[in-house]
Amino acid sequence: MEKLNIDPKSLLKGKVSNLSTARAYLLACSLLLLAMFLLVGVLLVSIAAHLNHDAGEHTRIDIENALQSVEKVAASTVKDYAFWGDAYIHLHQQVDVDWAFARQNLGSTLFTDLGFEGVFVVDASGRTVYSVIEGQLQAVAVQDWLPMPIEPLLAQAREAAVNGQALSRLVQADGTLAVLAAAALTPGIDPNVKAEAGPAAVLIFIAKLAPQRLVALGQEFGVQDLRVVPAGGVAAGVLSLSLRDNAGVVQWTSDDPGHQLLVLVVPLVIVAGLIFTLMAWVIQRRSTAAARVMDSNYATLQASRAALAVSEERFRDVAEAASDWIWEVDTQLRFTYLSERFDVITGLVGAKWLGLAADDLLTSDQGLLSAWFKDHARRPNAIVQCSYLCGGGELRICRLSVREIPGQGYRGTASDITEEVEARRRIEYLSQHDALTGLANRTRMQEFLEGKLKAVPTLERPLVMLSIDLDRFKPVNDLLGHAAGDDVLNQVSRRLQGCLRGDDLVARIGGDEFMLVVADMSSPLEVESLCRRLIDGIEQPFYLAEHEVFISASIGIAMAPADAIQAEELLRYADIALYEAKDGGRNTWRFYAGDMNARIIERRQLEADLRQAIKNGELRLDYQPRYRIEDKRLAGAEALVRWQHPRRGLLGPDVFIPIAEETGLILPLSNWVLYTACRAAAGWPEEVMISVNLSSTEFQRGHLVARVKAVLVETGLNPARLELELTESVMLNDEKVALNIMQGLKALGVRLLMDDFGTGYSSLSYLRSFPFDGLKIDRSFIRGLNASGGDQSIIQAIVGLGRALSLTVTAEGVETIDQLKALKDVQCDEAQGFYLSVPMNAQAIGELIAGCTD
Ligand code: C2E
Ligand code: CA
Ligand code: CA
Repeated sequence: MEKLNIDPKSLLKGKVSNLSTARAYLLACSLLLLAMFLLVGVLLVSIAAHLNHDAGEHTRIDIENALQSVEKVAASTVKDYAFWGDAYIHLHQQVDVDWAFARQNLGSTLFTDLGFEGVFVVDASGRTVYSVIEGQLQAVAVQDWLPMPIEPLLAQAREAAVNGQALSRLVQADGTLAVLAAAALTPGIDPNVKAEAGPAAVLIFIAKLAPQRLVALGQEFGVQDLRVVPAGGVAAGVLSLSLRDNAGVVQWTSDDPGHQLLVLVVPLVIVAGLIFTLMAWVIQRRSTAAARVMDSNYATLQASRAALAVSEERFRDVAEAASDWIWEVDTQLRFTYLSERFDVITGLVGAKWLGLAADDLLTSDQGLLSAWFKDHARRPNAIVQCSYLCGGGELRICRLSVREIPGQGYRGTASDITEEVEARRRIEYLSQHDALTGLANRTRMQEFLEGKLKAVPTLERPLVMLSIDLDRFKPVNDLLGHAAGDDVLNQVSRRLQGCLRGDDLVARIGGDEFMLVVADMSSPLEVESLCRRLIDGIEQPFYLAEHEVFISASIGIAMAPADAIQAEELLRYADIALYEAKDGGRNTWRFYAGDMNARIIERRQLEADLRQAIKNGELRLDYQPRYRIEDKRLAGAEALVRWQHPRRGLLGPDVFIPIAEETGLILPLSNWVLYTACRAAAGWPEEVMISVNLSSTEFQRGHLVARVKAVLVETGLNPARLELELTESVMLNDEKVALNIMQGLKALGVRLLMDDFGTGYSSLSYLRSFPFDGLKIDRSFIRGLNASGGDQSIIQAIVGLGRALSLTVTAEGVETIDQLKALKDVQCDEAQGFYLSVPMNAQAIGELIAGCTD
């Protein structure tokens, strides 16, 4: 080290300069600090402004989406009605008010059920020829509602109808914001109706977006206090959105995240500022004093030199402790210098690499490193990501920063970013995969599907989308625990994957929902055989510790391009088909049938027929006996409704109950069932119960308690002998209302049973919190019972649960003696099913009961 050689004169000079430089230095530091705080303040305010702006934009998009979804729904509804042969016959040339209003084809239900305040038919000459306002038939012209010329609208609706489309938009109607949907009447696909020449009449639906409705709509999309404001009344500074077609301006209340940020951070910054000022003050005092002392004393100078040496050493230590290493290469890109850290970080010997080509060690992610160096397009001080094999033989990744040394080569640092890259990869993977099963998630599936659709599938080589939902999975979770449920899901994933080829995709998109994207299927038969294999695979028993569990699956199928060529539509269609499959009795599959019009027509016909059926006495009741398993005594009978249709023959409840529910006919139907069943039971011995099924829609309207009470009074049946069977859908709609009604029913003295237990989603929790007297295990569980036990563990758990809650447990759908034996083994209370007795007519059950009780 250089020897210190100090001239006393310079010491004297130093005395003055040390003190003043210290002061100048501190002043500069303070100014710098002040500038820094100012900068932070400015930055904060600008970040807050940005945040507010971004949040405003997001909300704006949310609102646009919300309004668009309302438009879409309205358009598809008007389409259903307008492209319908019957509507064309009865509304296009001449309006058949009886058909349209009195027979409820285009009547008050459009308001009461679907919420359209205005329904109009405008004929070819622009005249409004039919109008239903808030469910009432009235003579109001559509022009009275719309402050705009209507001809362009009619022309657009007719043009859209050519492509099978309806149009919808937001408008000002009757003084408020409203959604308008219009479609020209066409015969649809009804082969019996011919389109006539000339412009078609146009059907217009208008639903007003009243303030409460807007608020509710906004809330669905997480937007507070959505409202319409008059065009001139847009308050400054409040976020707003001008609607298309001058339909108005909407406003909402913003969360102001930027403001929240300021409120949170500004006090912190101020406190930090105070602390810094205090510290600066202390430092100033100390360093001024130190400078004075230093100036006055040679020994102090020596000490400070020593301190400088220490701090240099400290700096070197810090540099060497950093995770970067420093390198230099010559113009031939051969290493000429590698810092000490090279050896420590890479596990290689730096000395051996000197003179060797950089290419031999490092590979850039853009190819050969030397090629990257020579690329003239790159910036002079660029950064490149490279990989190399470390001393341990593993691949590591580093980021190289490069600076050119003119005429001599390059130098720079290399930072190890292996962990960072790995973490990024992991996050990317997680964002695309389901954590439990490792299958693709919805995001990945959508990307994959879109990619496949870009390859333009053909009718011969379609892309097949399968939507799979497990049947009877929920009880496994509920009764055997989540670990068991997870285990089953993992096994299901593997079984599904086992049925597919490598380039097809299986995704898990919800609890027990999966989606498969399959290419290269040459025929529907091949798709069916895949579905068969999938279901067979899932129906194999699952072994979980000491349990053997049986589940099944339903599959919905949609194909591109036959059904749709857009990913979103394809997904929706596969889901619709899945519902059909579940409706079709589960563990089966259904292809999406695009032929919705035909179904609407058939349904409307059945609807009209059902109206007559009750009046014409075409309904009848069968009764299926239920037995106590212990002593084989008759416990009661379940009333099951049938419809003797004059043309279609005998129809089961599954065909017409859903229609009755949708049209409100369920009330007269159910009244008839209740009355007929109770009257029949009044003639049976006291100990035989009668069970009647109720529909969930009866809980939403129609004074259920009063109706049941009236029937009991009228038939004189002892209320304790009447059992009402409810499914879990009753409680899904509005738990409070349901509980209220159920308590009302219990107060009458009747019994309540939960039907189809185990098929719903939350049966278990409902059972605990609602006043049930018994439960009926769904027949799908009984099917899984066999001589070797099968589903027995789940049944056993259900029976145990029933016992704990003091409920009578009935097994439905008992078809074999083995099943009955298994039920007896687990001490199930009662059984019902074809093995014991099929449903029979009133006379037969009367005779059976007489025979039993003699
Ligand atoms: P549910 O309440 O589960 O009724 C039992 C159904 O299982 C009946 O079908 C019955 O015929 C059938 N079944 C009985 N034993 C066996 C068996 O051993 N194996 C098999 N595979 N099936 C068996 P049904 O009569 O077709 O009734 C279907 C559903 O329609 C009923 O299911 C019930 O939810 C509904 N339903 C029937 N009558 C009425 C009614 O009056 N009002 C309402 N709201 N719904 C009703
Ligand atoms: Ca039932
Ligand atoms: Ca049932």
